[in-house]
Amino acid sequence: MKIAIYPGSFDPVTSGHLNIIRRAANIFDKLIVCVMVNAGKNPMFTLEERVDLIRRVTKDLPNVEVDSSHALLADYARRRGSCVIVKGLREGSDFENEFQMALINHKLNPDLDTMFLTAESRYMYLSSSIVKELGSYGANLSDFLPCEIIPDFLEKIEKRKHNIQGGNET
Ligand code: ADP
Repeated sequence: MKIAIYPGSFDPVTSGHLNIIRRAANIFDKLIVCVMVNAGKNPMFTLEERVDLIRRVTKDLPNVEVDSSHALLADYARRRGSCVIVKGLREGSDFENEFQMALINHKLNPDLDTMFLTAESRYMYLSSSIVKELGSYGANLSDFLPCEIIPDFLEKIEKRKHNIQGGNET
């Protein structure tokens, strides 16, 4: 059974992520979407919330499992019996970072390869950070986020605004 892992911060999962998930789930027997802890990032959603949002938008995909991990990706893949990491590639800057990560992961775990799926053109410029920025200005998010999680996202934006105004930024 070919098991692939799609890692990321998914803060929150966007329509671009979901597009990669659907395409990868068609290619592999099983796809594990893994929310990775990135100490350098200050996420908007907790790890549990991010896992929950991804579970909700992938509930129609029986071969997709959603998990989270604090471990090194190369170790996590070994533990889960996976030899493929799936990554989405957008315009220029993704390539350099992802190329470096692919080489490092292969060095750490020689059984592990990285496969890239190119972003669809309509999602080429979409990232979680852009969505957070647009959301804070009240933009229409229906082209960027799966519709079932838009209310959760708007609620989070409102809570954040409230906390910042109260001098209680989280
Ligand atoms: P973001 O850059 O949105 O914070 P993540 O760190 O969660 O994304 O990214 C996880 C993976 O998803 C990475 O491989 C990233 O290149 C890919 N990805 C992110 N957004 C898109 C998109 N719009 N289309 C295709 N792949 C994407």
